Amino acid sequence: MSQSVCILGATGSIGQSTLKVLDRHPEKYSIFALSAYSRIEELGEICKQYQPKVVVVPFDKVDQLQKVFKEKNLKNIEILTDKEGLITVAKHPEVDVVMAAIVGAAGLLPTLAAVHAGKRVLLANKEALVMSGDIMMQAAQKSGALLLPVDSEHNAIFQCLPQNYLQIETNQEPQLGVSQILLTASGGPFLNHSSDQLKHVTPAQACKHPNWSMGRKISVDSATLMNKGLELIEACHLFSIKEHFVTVVVHPQSIIHSMVQYIDGSTLAQMGNPDMCTPIAHALAWPERIETHVPPLDLFALHRLDFQAPDTDRFPALTLARQAMQSGGLAPAILNASNEIAVEAFLNEQIGFMDIPAVSDFVLNEIANSSADTLDMILDIDRQARQSAQHRIMQLSK
Ligand code: NDP
Ligand code: MG
Repeated sequence: MSQSVCILGATGSIGQSTLKVLDRHPEKYSIFALSAYSRIEELGEICKQYQPKVVVVPFDKVDQLQKVFKEKNLKNIEILTDKEGLITVAKHPEVDVVMAAIVGAAGLLPTLAAVHAGKRVLLANKEALVMSGDIMMQAAQKSGALLLPVDSEHNAIFQCLPQNYLQIETNQEPQLGVSQILLTASGGPFLNHSSDQLKHVTPAQACKHPNWSMGRKISVDSATLMNKGLELIEACHLFSIKEHFVTVVVHPQSIIHSMVQYIDGSTLAQMGNPDMCTPIAHALAWPERIETHVPPLDLFALHRLDFQAPDTDRFPALTLARQAMQSGGLAPAILNASNEIAVEAFLNEQIGFMDIPAVSDFVLNEIANSSADTLDMILDIDRQARQSAQHRIMQLSK
């Protein structure tokens, strides 16, 4: 039977890759709902091609979308708006699969709604899990939602873990003979930049990733290594382990997408050409496999794979994330919110590249941490951290 899919963030990089995978399997999947935020023309094009039943856009974009629908002679597509609309489609009874591909904290509530409703949730929106941690994991356990990682590293780890790993009792220690997780990082576009050079890099340079084509926010996160920091936190929650069981390995070719080590000396790696269609297809079809356009690896053309330890002096974001995970409670949510604001300020050329981790460091020190017992506490600290980051940015950009 065909599965009904909702793509939150259909106009983004992950959204587009998801559509590319679905294109090849029209008999297996149909599209129920799509969301967009600013790219309304693009949404119109996607709607023309896929004829969803529902779309979600911000309230102030409805007029523009209706105009686009009229021009394209599109009828019978219901338009919902804002957060409420996103939550409605994420938990809609007709939806089987939710691709959570909104960027940042804006994806938290709809992703959680999908998890509470017991959907198959394909998680690209790592910020949602970084912020809500145990709350999201417990909600998945309670509802029976299948929370499947789309982030290429976590998808790779998932592929290298024993099949029944996600079903076991969670207790913060690796289970079933697993000893360590090796989280690979490309190192981003500035891997070999000196500290001095890093101070002067521009948004355009930061958004030009050597191996992956991605949205602007995650591209900057990859350049600061905050992306790896957020992924470290993501891995701890998804696989229920403490942060010291996760080692970050810089691997500039992005061919190995991460590894799992076992107590018997084995190391399992998942490899492939760097294309998000592979982890998306894996999470869509798991435990089955479906075909994608991604060509198989040509090992003879590769010649070599390199590995090195990350330099946390030049890339302090990684240390901030590790410390936030160690502290636990609301610290990861504070880190995430301050980073989102700092990245935006960097993209708007208000602050320099090295100010991005400095802003998070400042905010983490300024705001008192406590346990993250409720969603309201997380949303409240998210607001506080954003304010504090804005304030710091004003001081820095004077
Ligand atoms: P993009 O910026 O390309 O896309 C983001 C999507 O979210 C767009 O559809 C955008 O709409 C929508 N959006 C942005 N802001 C809001 C908002 N405030 N409310 C509702 N919707 C919003 O990002 P990516 O696709 O690159 O990344 C998406 C998520 O996936 C991120 O969390 C990222 O970390 C994660 N990820 C991405 C990878 C990649 O290769 N790109 C790899 C691994 C994880 P619009 O475009 O219409 O404005
Ligand atoms: Mg990743």
